[in-house]
Amino acid sequence: MKFICEDFEDKKGCGQIDYVLMEGYGFGDRMLEDVYFKVTLNDDKEYTVVEAEGQEDYTQQLNMKYWIKEAHEYVKSYDFAECPHCREDVSLAPESCVKN
Ligand SMILES: [Zn+2]
Repeated sequence: MKFICEDFEDKKGCGQIDYVLMEGYGFGDRMLEDVYFKVTLNDDKEYTVVEAEGQEDYTQQLNMKYWIKEAHEYVKSYDFAECPHCREDVSLAPESCVKN
């Protein structure tokens, strides 16, 4: 499935995007502030979560296996994540996504 970065007021959205970014602050508090997870959704409406690139200098000292599992739990209860291109909110709901 592809997420949709929608137009918002006078700002043009990015359209269909392959993944969204979820910050870890919501479940990891300050330890995961500015730590991002890449979230994808398959055609069976199952979320997959991996660590976003470029933050390994910090995250190598964390138990990311554990945090990725946590992130996968939390993503189901979240409504929005960030567009990787423009950082606007993008709906996580499968109903808001389109098939590939
Ligand atoms: Zn966007």
